[in-house]
Amino acid sequence: MCRTPAHDLLALLLLVNYTYRLSFLATISMTTPASPQPSDRSKLLAALGGLGKVDVAIIGGGATGLGVALDAATRGLSVVLLESHDFAKGTSSRATKLVHGGVRYLAQGNIALVREALHERSNLLHNAPHLARPLPFVMPSYKCWETPFYGIGLKAYDALAGKAGLGPTEFLGSRQAQRCIPGVKTAGLKGGVKYWDGQFDDARLAMALARTAAEQGALLLNYCPVTNLIHEDGKVAGLRCSDTETGAQYTVHARCVVNATGVWVDGIREKDGTATGRKTQPMVAPSQGVHLVVDSDFFPGDHAMLVPKTQDGRVLFAVPWLGKVILGTTDTPRHDLSLEPEAFAEEVNFILGEAAKYLQRAPTRNDVRSIWVGLRPLVRPPRNEGDKTQQISREHTVLVSPSGLVTVTGGKWTTYRAMAEDVLEKCVASGLLDRLPPSETADFMLVGAAETPARASITAQPGLDAYGTEADIVRAMPGNDTELTPGLTVGMLRFAARYEYARCVEDVLARRSRLLFLDAGLAARLAPAVAAILLEETGTDPRLSEFLALADRYQTVPG
Ligand SMILES: Cc1cc2nc3c(=O)[nH]c(=O)nc-3n(C[C@H](O)[C@H](O)[C@H](O)COP(=O)(O)OP(=O)(O)OC[C@H]3O[C@@H](n4cnc5c(N)ncnc54)[C@H](O)[C@@H]3O)c2cc1C
Repeated sequence: MCRTPAHDLLALLLLVNYTYRLSFLATISMTTPASPQPSDRSKLLAALGGLGKVDVAIIGGGATGLGVALDAATRGLSVVLLESHDFAKGTSSRATKLVHGGVRYLAQGNIALVREALHERSNLLHNAPHLARPLPFVMPSYKCWETPFYGIGLKAYDALAGKAGLGPTEFLGSRQAQRCIPGVKTAGLKGGVKYWDGQFDDARLAMALARTAAEQGALLLNYCPVTNLIHEDGKVAGLRCSDTETGAQYTVHARCVVNATGVWVDGIREKDGTATGRKTQPMVAPSQGVHLVVDSDFFPGDHAMLVPKTQDGRVLFAVPWLGKVILGTTDTPRHDLSLEPEAFAEEVNFILGEAAKYLQRAPTRNDVRSIWVGLRPLVRPPRNEGDKTQQISREHTVLVSPSGLVTVTGGKWTTYRAMAEDVLEKCVASGLLDRLPPSETADFMLVGAAETPARASITAQPGLDAYGTEADIVRAMPGNDTELTPGLTVGMLRFAARYEYARCVEDVLARRSRLLFLDAGLAARLAPAVAAILLEETGTDPRLSEFLALADRYQTVPG
């Protein structure tokens, strides 16, 4: 092949990019490690203080922001991500835990969306097999037409998945349905349809994304809210943030600032608008979803149940997860944007009432081990404000403001990777970043992932298998023999503080372990012991009383 000046120019650009990346990595003293990369906060803050101008600064450490961080870092860009609370504190720890193509969108005829999500489902299951596994679902039928009706739709779902299919849809008789979901109400049961999707541990997946991005050279900090944007000549040129623990302020200059703050994106957009004399219109219409967690004897077995049409037309899931069962969810418009939204009594009534129609043993309020609420960032694209809106799919939106602020919101956990690719494409198309090499994340294994997963499913109680290839490292931690409760050792707490950015009791009991979401009462009882270990590890206030108040809320069922 003959060499042209264009080849030389491309080689030069790649060399410059590579050299720049190496110097960025040196600045923050991070190289790809053979052993886990410590999340030593003082070093991370020192790195933040000493940063030069970066390629991408990301606001928000949920699924969306973390996905962008990983994609950008693996393409050789210098990346900073700042999260105001803990990684996945927002919506990204409150999902129904399904890695799914979205059977519901199929019913709406949105084939492209389902195909994309099925493709992403396959990527996610491959890249994090220690945290995401296939899960069989049953739709029970109480009317004769339901099995063929839903079965044909689900066969189409299989066909769309193609090679990414996880197992064939099966038509079940009444006995077979009962064998799969032994907790189902048998009176009038005609049969059911069995199909396959996936499930995952959302907060631990967020942590795996954060740590993988850090291994690729990104600098990530939790408890570091972005307080303002910096503008130069009417263009976004960076941001200001502060360390919650010390109050220290930092300034970050960036070629591209990505606003990935979920339901909170409009707050950042407003700052951008105010600084550039533009009025912004809200683009998010939040909707809350409530989940109730009960013991597994209310719904035993390792299949999930999907009720496709409840009394008011919503779907209801019963999902075995980490030794308990999740029931949910609701879809209630919400105008305030609390980090810890409260459930309404009617939402609890709805979930318990519908569950009672389908379960042999109906749980009551007293049986609820934990109740938690998440806010969906549903997108309402703004009009008439000069923004270039690109509705990449009906699910998520990437929007570049006239000042160059890139906002991404909507979508779902399952499609976080595709969303990240869209964000970076949009940054390039808008001239904020130069041309980039193709994304590598479709088959990029996350921290802890092994080609042959030790974990068959994540319906069972959690344990060392959630750490994947890092299980031996956790096993070697001091305190590995001291179990606080099955599936949670002192060694795991120390690992969380040293390598997983955990700063306080809530980080450990809500998101490194999922105990707060599984059994809030037990989490509260273990909290003092957890606080003592964390204090030893971090030397900072583990915020025990704040956690106890939170655990109280997760145990309080309204109504
Ligand atoms: C009830 C419910 C069930 C769901 N179930 C599923 C499911 O089963 N499967 C699925 O695929 N998807 C599901 N989803 C959707 C999925 O959870 C969300 O699409 C996804 O988590 C959104 O991630 P995000 O990063 O955009 O937002 P978030 O996770 O909310 O992240 C935004 C982050 O920005 C931070 N932030 C805000 N302001 C600032 C600031 N000034 N500075 C720094 N940081 C800031 C917040 O603290 C937050 O952590 C569900 C959603 C809900 C609500």
